[in-house]
Amino acid sequence: MSIDVSTETITPEQIAAGVRAHQLDKEHVFHSWQAQGPFAPMTILKTQGSWIWDGEGNKLLDFSSQLVNTNIGHQHPKVVAAIQSQAADICTIAPQHVNDARSEAARLIASLTPGDLDHVFFTNGGADAVEHAIRMARLHTGKHKVLAAYRSYHGGTHLAINLTGDPRRFASDHGTDGVVHFMPAYHYRSYFSAATEAEETERALRHLEDTIVLEGPDTIGALILESIPGTAGIYMPPAGYMAGVRELTRKYGIAYIADEVMAGFGRAGQWFSVDHWDVVPDLLTFAKGVNSGYVPLGGVAISGAIYETFRERAYPGGLTYSGHPLACAAAVATITAMKDEAMVENSARIGAEIIGPALEELKAKHPSVGDVRGTGCFWALELVTNRETREPMAPYGGSSPAMAAVTGALKKAGMLPFVNFNRIHVVPPLNISDEDLRTGLAMLDEALSVADGFVEA
Ligand code: PMP
Repeated sequence: MSIDVSTETITPEQIAAGVRAHQLDKEHVFHSWQAQGPFAPMTILKTQGSWIWDGEGNKLLDFSSQLVNTNIGHQHPKVVAAIQSQAADICTIAPQHVNDARSEAARLIASLTPGDLDHVFFTNGGADAVEHAIRMARLHTGKHKVLAAYRSYHGGTHLAINLTGDPRRFASDHGTDGVVHFMPAYHYRSYFSAATEAEETERALRHLEDTIVLEGPDTIGALILESIPGTAGIYMPPAGYMAGVRELTRKYGIAYIADEVMAGFGRAGQWFSVDHWDVVPDLLTFAKGVNSGYVPLGGVAISGAIYETFRERAYPGGLTYSGHPLACAAAVATITAMKDEAMVENSARIGAEIIGPALEELKAKHPSVGDVRGTGCFWALELVTNRETREPMAPYGGSSPAMAAVTGALKKAGMLPFVNFNRIHVVPPLNISDEDLRTGLAMLDEALSVADGFVEA
């Protein structure tokens, strides 16, 4: 590769500090989602814009945006300055008090969310936003059951992991809380044997309506959906599906919760992914991109009708750090920078003009690429060992030597990739330069040649 993977600005002292951190990590840090023994985490010594430097001082292109949250890239100077300035002023106050950072963050978020989602309940991240959205929906509708899609992710806390429709649920799913899963519209691997997109929409909606009727509309209080499921594969809803789901929730008096934790804040080329289909939910959950993850923050944007439910009746829920000043100051600075630097527009442009066409070219060139899909800075390549049968290069929920080799090739080429099961996600910061983006796509091209070696002859 032509990129410079020299140690650049990394000093021997920084490398030594990284070695010590790695040792202490092994001794004392318990990592998410991992078997602790074999897990080999990457040390990160420095982050800047779309780049990170690993423990050996190698410069890697962050095509993962960490966990798809650093939408404005690393160390944006205006956001760093806003956090520093807020820290010098007030670091923390309890949620029942008023603080200008929180008020301004709520105002800005309400100005961006669709329809009359004009009040914001702040949380520490995405999972607790989901928990609270469900609680609000249940109290508002007076109904307990919740519908959620298979092949979805809604968070790692008790109810959120129950709602999740991916294998991370299995070990901690106690089958409680009235959660009912339905099959999503996922045309590449249609659960409805649909030949066309129109058929997929029609059959998926019929399946959803049947699920509602068979479960009992009078028992279902909420439906939660990622319009474009993120970790589950960035599969785009077929035309008509989103409007159809919204119609069904209205018909049966079900509160519709749009989970925008990953797809929101410009990731999908609009402020919120529901904006692609002009869908206005009753509740909208957000986190990650709201402040690019610089300080933990999430929340629920609430419709006028649901707000009314709690005008005279207390909302039974809260968090010590709800609307934390440092996190809210970071959100105000992030949203302001996104507007000033037209990052949402940039996300839409590079998705349509660079990423989409480049991935289609890679699909034409590499037999290992089964499907390419996405929008904005939110794309996935699904790798297969056989295009005809669509046999995935790793099983759902698992890994394979082939995908391990592809991941290794991406890192060797100079990328910090986001790889999940048989998929490579292309999820760079929304303000990545065109040049860096093209560099990353060239790295991808190189690694896909390794994937091609695992395609059945
Ligand atoms: N919902 C969605 C759609 C997500 O992608 C995630 C995180 N990947 C969550 C909820 C949970 O967010 P957090 O990890 O901040 O709790």
